[in-house]
Amino acid sequence: MRKNRLNIGGLVVIIILICAIFWLGVAALVNQQAYEREAKITPTPSITPRTVQITEDPAQPTSTPTPRLFQMNDVGIEVRDMQRRLKELGYLNGEADGQFGSATENAVKAFQWQHNLKNDGIAGEQTLNLLYSDNARVFVPTPMPSPTPSVLSSGASGEEVRRLQTRLKDLGFYTGDIDGAFGKGTKSAVMVFQKQHDLEADGIAGAMTLAKLYSNDAHYIIVTPTPETIQVMAGSLPLLVNKEKPVGIDFIPADLVNMSAYCDSALVKIKYDSTQGVREAVDALMTMLAAAKDEGITNWQVSAAYRSYQDQVDIMEQNVKSYMKNNDLSRKQAESAAKLTVAEPGTSEHHTGLAFDMTVPGTAAFKGTKQEIWLRKNCWDYGFIIRYTDEKQDITGFLGEEWHIRYVGVEHSKIMQEKDWCLEEYLQYVVLQ
Ligand SMILES: [Zn+2]
Repeated sequence: MRKNRLNIGGLVVIIILICAIFWLGVAALVNQQAYEREAKITPTPSITPRTVQITEDPAQPTSTPTPRLFQMNDVGIEVRDMQRRLKELGYLNGEADGQFGSATENAVKAFQWQHNLKNDGIAGEQTLNLLYSDNARVFVPTPMPSPTPSVLSSGASGEEVRRLQTRLKDLGFYTGDIDGAFGKGTKSAVMVFQKQHDLEADGIAGAMTLAKLYSNDAHYIIVTPTPETIQVMAGSLPLLVNKEKPVGIDFIPADLVNMSAYCDSALVKIKYDSTQGVREAVDALMTMLAAAKDEGITNWQVSAAYRSYQDQVDIMEQNVKSYMKNNDLSRKQAESAAKLTVAEPGTSEHHTGLAFDMTVPGTAAFKGTKQEIWLRKNCWDYGFIIRYTDEKQDITGFLGEEWHIRYVGVEHSKIMQEKDWCLEEYLQYVVLQ
């Protein structure tokens, strides 16, 4: 009996020991698997930080360094001190690691913006002096929007628009009043923001634009410095016609052709039989439309081309009469109303015979058609420009007209596309060689 009890006791101890070893094994395995899972989902940082020797001394207050210049990719203790100062003022969220990366650059830009300095992200003497002075102001963050952003576009109003304007203003894109009304100024600000953040520049603040705008990836406006004059090899500069520069009443372009008779009807429909255009421009148009056809884009129509002074007088008169009749306005009121949408006689670009209004037969809106998309992308290669865009309306004086193309010659149109200049800007910065 005694021997038996001992044996049972021994057995129990052995079983307990086996169980303990087993559970330790299982626990170790589970732990290992959890680690491996973790390792799989934790992304490895794509940029390996360079090793920099920095003696950490958190008790040391920020010291004023000898001002010099710090920029992207600089490394060192002075950069770290600058980062500490930027952190102290709330401009930098990341670590003060002594490495001037994109987070530091954004912080410098933010600091410069809030202090009316040129926000190039380069910490030069002026920026550094101000940063370490008593005049350095603390960062004022923009309040985040409500979690369900709606689509904001022209005509919208309210608190969401107010937040949008505030954020755009903080980033330097918007200069108007924070009035909560989504007007022209807000739209252009949204467009410039979209353009500088690789979004489609449609001026509508949808989910993607809003997400970017309120994220840490949103950067400050990049202000392009006034360009130097550039030289072009060309016979002459394009003729400028706008509200400030009318052409004379007697101006008639040379070498006009009747487009209905002259143009290949397989490539383009000429809406009105009497339509005329300057031969060189019409030839370029036909070359362009033949190329479009090769790419499967057909079904083009020219709704308007050359307009004589008298044509412009007639169009204005028709519009004035229509306003008087349909809107019950006095002649004077109707004239003011018409001038908002119709070029005053002598100031229409169609007077040059080099402008064409492109449409799709039987379609009211040109915007968004495959023809319009093709034209916007390719017209520059054939000497044409989209003369009026929403983004440049402050300069051209016209709202965007995606259908109105203007022939300037390929030596000019390519530069204008590359530099993103409208005709007014181009003529300001260019000289003939
Ligand atoms: Zn036009």
